[in-house]
Amino acid sequence: MGLQSISSDQGRPERIALVSVHGDPAIEIGAEEAGGQNVYVRQVGEALAQLGWQVDMFTRQADLHKPERVQHQANCRTIRLRAGPTEFISRDEIFEYLPKFVDQLLGFQAQEGIQYPLVHTNYWLSSWVGMELKKHQPLAQVHTYHSLGAVKYDNVPHIPDIGATRLAVEKACLETAECVVATSPQEEEHMRSHLSTLGNVQIIPCGTDIKHYGGISRAEARQKLGIPLDAKVVFYIGRFDPRKGIETLVRAIAQSQFKTTDNLQLMIAGGSRPGNLDGQERNRIEGIVRELGLADITQFPGRISTEDLPFYYAAADVSVVPSHYEPFGLVAIEAMASLTPVVASDVGGLQFTVLPEETGLLVPPKDVAGFAQAIDRILADPQLKQQWGLAARKRVETTFSWRGVAQQLSQLYQQLLH
Ligand code: UDP
Repeated sequence: MGLQSISSDQGRPERIALVSVHGDPAIEIGAEEAGGQNVYVRQVGEALAQLGWQVDMFTRQADLHKPERVQHQANCRTIRLRAGPTEFISRDEIFEYLPKFVDQLLGFQAQEGIQYPLVHTNYWLSSWVGMELKKHQPLAQVHTYHSLGAVKYDNVPHIPDIGATRLAVEKACLETAECVVATSPQEEEHMRSHLSTLGNVQIIPCGTDIKHYGGISRAEARQKLGIPLDAKVVFYIGRFDPRKGIETLVRAIAQSQFKTTDNLQLMIAGGSRPGNLDGQERNRIEGIVRELGLADITQFPGRISTEDLPFYYAAADVSVVPSHYEPFGLVAIEAMASLTPVVASDVGGLQFTVLPEETGLLVPPKDVAGFAQAIDRILADPQLKQQWGLAARKRVETTFSWRGVAQQLSQLYQQLLH
């Protein structure tokens, strides 16, 4: 698809805005609450720019030391708007600053003499921004939820104070946005069963950079990371959040048949600096690791940079995604792109990405014995690992490349605009 086909009436590239209030697309991934949404917005933004769109990505300024604008490529930039304290605040605390965010976004358009005809909003907070903007200008809104409060709250002991507002906003957005993007058939089902039967939904998955992963051999990766070739490496990466189910993984490792051999290694990667919000969950997990006598075989390498990630996935024998709830789960497809089979919870988007008995295994969430058995089955059989790893790579190549995802989004935007 060329630049010409998506230019505006004046012949310039069509402008679009991606709004991601709490997920800054220009930030380092893995720190604090930064995860899949940040990756999604950044990758989609850059890929859309390469397809010829003029992409502006808006986020909240959460750190005074970070620049107000970051130019990623000629047609793609991040713009940080001042709304609320210029420091990290949890996503559950941001809602009250959204009117200010809308003002700033309107001010930015006025200042630049532009108006976005289409806004793609991300997460419920940004969906509210999109719905408000519509009151001021003609606008097509596309929305991706990234997480559905209605489903998440089924799985947590305490619903935050903002819960009722979130549920109402999520429902209104589904019913009024020009199109809501579900990243898996499972997410669409959840929208229908938990939010509303009204509204327009299209399934376009998340993606990954298929050239970035899969080019490194297990031996090469292990040499770089100092892991012996005969070690059996179980790998987790992601945010330290109770919803991620890291506890299930740790308890499963304590039941592994390989625990008594001396070459089992558990690697729990991700997480930010001590003292940050996610530190509480990390401390809790470290406590369980010690309590179960796993400290000697467990490593916490911390945040892994995008450049180093392919080595970690390639070094692993199995990548585990034990989430209680997962709308998509980028980690699963990154591991699969790296030829590493995945053992994941049988929930949400993981049911779409991981094909049981073909690219990995699915286990009911929180089922410690089930995870132990599934992990052991792959660790015990290097041939199976290789076979499922190859099939996993193939599945990602055909279904989950960012470029393919961006092309589908681009087509959707064009339909909505013309
Ligand atoms: N990630 C990373 N370094 C880390 C931890 C996580 O680059 O130290 C990335 C990971 O590779 C993935 C994203 O953060 O791309 C997490 O996305 P996912 O959809 O798995 O989970 P979410 O954070 O959205 O719940």
